[in-house]
Amino acid sequence: EESNPSATYYPTGSLEIITADPSLAIIDLQLAWKFNIYAQEPMSRREIYINAGTGSVVFEDNLIHHADSTGTANTGYSGTQTIITDYTGSQFRLRESGRGNGVQTFSLNNGTSYGAATDIFDNDNNWTSTSVDIFGTDAYWGTEMTYDYFFNNFGRNSIDNNGFTLRSYVHYGVNYANAFWDGQRMTYGDGPGGNAPFTALDIAGHEVTHGLTNFTSNLVYQGESGALNESFSDIFGASVEFEALGFGNGDWLMGEDLGFIIRNMADPNSQGDPDTYLGTNWTSTAIGAFDNGGVHINSGVQNFWYYLLVVGETGTNDNGDNFSVNGIGLADAGAIAYRNNIVYLSVNSNYADARYFAIESALDLFGPCSPQVINTANAWHAVGIGERFPDGVVANYTSNSVSGCVLPHTVQFSNYSYNGANYFWDFGDGGTSTAFEPSHTYTVAGTYDVSLLVTSPCGADTEIQLSYIEVGPGAPCEYTIGSNGSTTEIECTGVLFDNGGLAGDYQNSSNSTFIIAPPNTGSITLEFVSFDVQNGGSNCNTDYLEVFEGPNTNSPSLGKFCSTNPPPSVLNSQSGAVTLKFFSNGTISEDGFRIDWSCNAISEEPVADFSSNLLETCNGMVNFYDQSLNGTTSWSWDFGDGNTSTDQNPVHLYVTNGAYNVTLVSTNQFGSSTEVKPSFINVDRPIPPTGQNANICPGETAVLTASSAGFHRWYDVPFGGSYIQQGNSLTTPVIQSNTSYYVESIIPGNSLDGGAPNFFLGGNPILEEFPNTTPLYFDALNDFLLHSVRVYAQSSGDRTFVVSNSSGGTVATRTVNVQQGNYREVVLDINIPAGNGYRIYLAGSSDVIDLYYNTSGANFPYETPGLLSIYQSGGANGLSEYYFFYDWDVKEYCVSDRTELEASTSICLGIEEESNGSVFELYPNPSQDFVTATWSESLDVKQIIAYDLKGQIVQQTVITQHANSSEINASEFSKGVYLIELRTETGSQMKRLIIQ
Ligand SMILES: [Zn+2]
Repeated sequence: EESNPSATYYPTGSLEIITADPSLAIIDLQLAWKFNIYAQEPMSRREIYINAGTGSVVFEDNLIHHADSTGTANTGYSGTQTIITDYTGSQFRLRESGRGNGVQTFSLNNGTSYGAATDIFDNDNNWTSTSVDIFGTDAYWGTEMTYDYFFNNFGRNSIDNNGFTLRSYVHYGVNYANAFWDGQRMTYGDGPGGNAPFTALDIAGHEVTHGLTNFTSNLVYQGESGALNESFSDIFGASVEFEALGFGNGDWLMGEDLGFIIRNMADPNSQGDPDTYLGTNWTSTAIGAFDNGGVHINSGVQNFWYYLLVVGETGTNDNGDNFSVNGIGLADAGAIAYRNNIVYLSVNSNYADARYFAIESALDLFGPCSPQVINTANAWHAVGIGERFPDGVVANYTSNSVSGCVLPHTVQFSNYSYNGANYFWDFGDGGTSTAFEPSHTYTVAGTYDVSLLVTSPCGADTEIQLSYIEVGPGAPCEYTIGSNGSTTEIECTGVLFDNGGLAGDYQNSSNSTFIIAPPNTGSITLEFVSFDVQNGGSNCNTDYLEVFEGPNTNSPSLGKFCSTNPPPSVLNSQSGAVTLKFFSNGTISEDGFRIDWSCNAISEEPVADFSSNLLETCNGMVNFYDQSLNGTTSWSWDFGDGNTSTDQNPVHLYVTNGAYNVTLVSTNQFGSSTEVKPSFINVDRPIPPTGQNANICPGETAVLTASSAGFHRWYDVPFGGSYIQQGNSLTTPVIQSNTSYYVESIIPGNSLDGGAPNFFLGGNPILEEFPNTTPLYFDALNDFLLHSVRVYAQSSGDRTFVVSNSSGGTVATRTVNVQQGNYREVVLDINIPAGNGYRIYLAGSSDVIDLYYNTSGANFPYETPGLLSIYQSGGANGLSEYYFFYDWDVKEYCVSDRTELEASTSICLGIEEESNGSVFELYPNPSQDFVTATWSESLDVKQIIAYDLKGQIVQQTVITQHANSSEINASEFSKGVYLIELRTETGSQMKRLIIQ
């Protein structure tokens, strides 16, 4: 502890003359080595005198004075109190060894080095003179009282139940206005003016309890778990005060002795803290949010719970729920809170856990239907967590399954009964159980009633659920909707649960679809057996289940449902498929739903209908969606430009500008139905580029140039494929023969909106407090231009905006000077290629960030059809929070048809291609298989050679006789452009051939 590198455990002695006479008379003097021996195990500290001649022990002087003695202290805040101190031989000091391995208090003398701390002394153990450190005795006495509270009530031997030495250090620093537990010891500052040290009794109890929590639940000091950690310290700080001073002399205020109230457990609102979970004054629990996510603020909820449980009260909470709690007194309430913290809670426990296990603790300690159990639950209901507790026995259960299509089928039952002691289950197939939560395996096909009889000293109740379990080959299979992604099932009957299953709440942050598409189906019936999805008003703007009449979410919506806008008990989809989209944000989940579905075979002819992702396009690409009713088995589309398709949901590229009629004929075994939509799709593509061909010789590169109103992309194929490069010119690779390239013109289209329109999302917008690089995530469904976003700036300054792709690579950065003010437009003009998993964020290197964001109220995804989907934030509650970038202005790219440009080697070959149509002809051209080449008789043609566009020979025909025509068999050629060369003795001539 002294950091002395030369320290050893070997004692060094000094030579002394000592008497061996026990009366210490100066007789029998001996020369002896005196050693000072300090042993840790067993604990001793003695001066031992060894005869220098014989080695025998002459005398031992025990330096540890176990004689703790009783003193009287004038404490800083708690008046005159009895303390236990020890005696050094000349003075009394604030140490004792009677409580565990000791209680000790030191002074840091306004420094911060624990190595320099000193003992606090008094000469006569009557610590009342003006020179006494009254705040030292305060902290010391408070620690003794805290030790006693836990020992006397719960038999606990200090914070680790193993005698942990409780060391306090007072007078930390100068004007330091806090007290803290650092994992080893309590430390107390002297307060803002240096004259109100934080050594009051309730604060001492508070800090010691932090140590106890460290050794038990060890609740993480962040968000809800941190608020519970703080609350347990307040609960036991107040309890220590009540017990040490007498109940009538204590109070529910924290820190009142210092001259200002820090918290009020009996009225948290009075100090700006919440008394209801998520109610008034509740603060963000997000990582990075103020006060470690509100640990000293949201603690008000459990603080008020404890106050209600001790004292009792009737009232109305922030949820508008009336409550009535009968107080059970300090001892029982303290025992419940203590057991919860010691036995049940763990590092990541939240408020729901605290409620559940407080009731468990009360059940353990006081038994079912005891007033302690009922009022524990009712006090939690009063602070907005959980339901009111009934007085009598209530039988209630559910299970993880109600239907099994494969035998044997095992069902796990969950017991939600109240105030029971004994349980008797009858599973309906002859099986029974007395377990609390049994599982049962059904082996025989059938439909079974299940009953549960619950009894206890406070009564009895039975819950019978008729036809509760159906098992066997004819029973529906069970499914759960995913938490993300899409699932398609083709069973005609089934049972669908939310992703928490039948027994549990659904998961937060879900975004998934479940498609039911049995073959040969005319309609599908959905029966909502149960439905409980977070209240979100009539628009269901938090969590929801949306039902679409068809095979995808582009089908017509049959409704968007939540508990404030529930579905009808039966819903019919007249389509042969139905799509269920389930969305939940990052907070609050409920029981969820059970939907039993059944399908009905096709029984009449279809009613044809369809939609598309857009009606006007400047790039020609359109997605069509079948919306026919009554079940369709084949589809025939006519896009109005001469092209057709038999896909159910085709994608079509319109090449030529115009307005197009679109027709769908839907057919099943009962007949056909035709839907025509005149001028349904309007195509307005940019004008294709004009350009320059290049003439070169074989083995050279060519430079092709293009011009138009937009920018250009170059390809080596006339349709599809990936572009080679962008720009106004293309330098080709080395080429050997005539080669065509294709260039398109691209111009940004009209502005489209994306993202949340502004920061009024329903949750309060808040200003970021630290350099915050939390991103928004988005997918680019097609290439687009991100023209601008809107931000809310607290101050003016340069901010660096970054877009990165899914692998973390930077797409672009833009440093923009944003002036202070609301709804500022930030022009970015970043080209976003089609792709998933993009992020936009502010670089931490920005001069300022100072922008507003929302920690709640977001309703992802924010979609701009066909172009952009902003699907979450990067924070801890990614689906409920929204960061910085509002009201995007995005522009799709309008794409022209491609213009063909040629790098020609013909001139260099000596014969100008197509110079004289009468000399060399190919017909038919374009062709599919056989082509006839004709030429002037005057040409003495020796070979006919076909090249592909890479200049490679694909066919070579030798002409042996004098002729003026030959047939080319192109039936093996793949579709595309070829060059046909007539080769004579003296030169050659070329023509282009198109194979379709
Ligand atoms: Zn604390």
